[in-house]
Amino acid sequence: MSDPAAFGRIALIGIGLIGSSIAHATRRAGLAMHIAGYSRSPESRAAAARIGFCDSLHDDMATCVAEADIVILCLPIGALGPAAAAIAPALKPGAILTDVGSVKMAVIRDIGPHVPDGIHFVPGHPIAGTENSGPESGFATLFDNRWCILTPPPGTDAEAVARLSAFWTALGSKVDIMEPRHHDMVLAITSHLPHLIAYNIVGTAADLEDVTQSEVIKYSAGGFRDFTRIAASDPTMWRDVFLNNREAVLEMLQRFTEDLTALQRAIRWGDGDSLYTLFDRTRTIRRSIIEAGQESAAPNFGRDKSA
Ligand code: NAP
Repeated sequence: MSDPAAFGRIALIGIGLIGSSIAHATRRAGLAMHIAGYSRSPESRAAAARIGFCDSLHDDMATCVAEADIVILCLPIGALGPAAAAIAPALKPGAILTDVGSVKMAVIRDIGPHVPDGIHFVPGHPIAGTENSGPESGFATLFDNRWCILTPPPGTDAEAVARLSAFWTALGSKVDIMEPRHHDMVLAITSHLPHLIAYNIVGTAADLEDVTQSEVIKYSAGGFRDFTRIAASDPTMWRDVFLNNREAVLEMLQRFTEDLTALQRAIRWGDGDSLYTLFDRTRTIRRSIIEAGQESAAPNFGRDKSA
């Protein structure tokens, strides 16, 4: 029986961090005869050619997807609708069309109307990434032991979902199936809000007048630098995430603001018990993340002592 995770030809529309990592991991697992990659900029295509993670590189989306058995859209969320419209006439009948976008309701809204009959659209989201972007930032182990969430709309072909699950599993991931609305809510608290907080705290520090920029940098090991890693994430990608998961992010932000106000009150009234109880509870959450294999147990995030 043929390997359900393997495809003859894979097309990657977008070869930044996620697209190039999929290419590396596909090669590592031997899952494709041919990996075709599209990128709009000559610089990114040149970088991809130099590294060599694609078998063919294209400056035209439709040419890239021709004859592909699976097409993976790896673009910022705001670019997905126009991309789906551009590739639709060129898709091979029976092909699987998927994406890696960090928001799912808006992606289904934008891509869905362009999907031709006979194409199996299975939206996806690998919960794996770094603060780096571009074709030089990808690596084969990015998805190892990380979750990938698939959000197939009702009526999606079960075999297509099973093949895509097998593909992500072969790339190193663990796969979950979820309702898109629930996905957006879960990611709003686990990913989108932490990014918003990091962008905000780094912005606040940058605007301070009583503390100099050089002091912020010099004393960053006190905690600040851990926010700067997240706040260095790609601005286009994250602008699109917030514009497209507005409802869920605003709901979580409301809860967050209420809880922050309670902390503010505890500090003002010298309520040490409330502060201690919360801080003790949050420690156990970090321990659970380490136990689940989603973070290193090494002190200081595994940084060496000189860092
Ligand atoms: P990236 O490294 O910045 O790569 C983006 C790719 O999209 C590049 O190939 C870029 O081409 C292309 N691109 C950007 N704007 C475009 C446009 N308007 N039209 C056509 N092509 C365009 O981004 P990434 O981190 O791989 O993110 C891609 C997707 O993965 C996003 O939807 C994001 O939500 C999702 N995701 C990201 C992470 C993460 O941590 N980074 C994790 C999970 C999912 P050029 O280089 O030629 O400009």
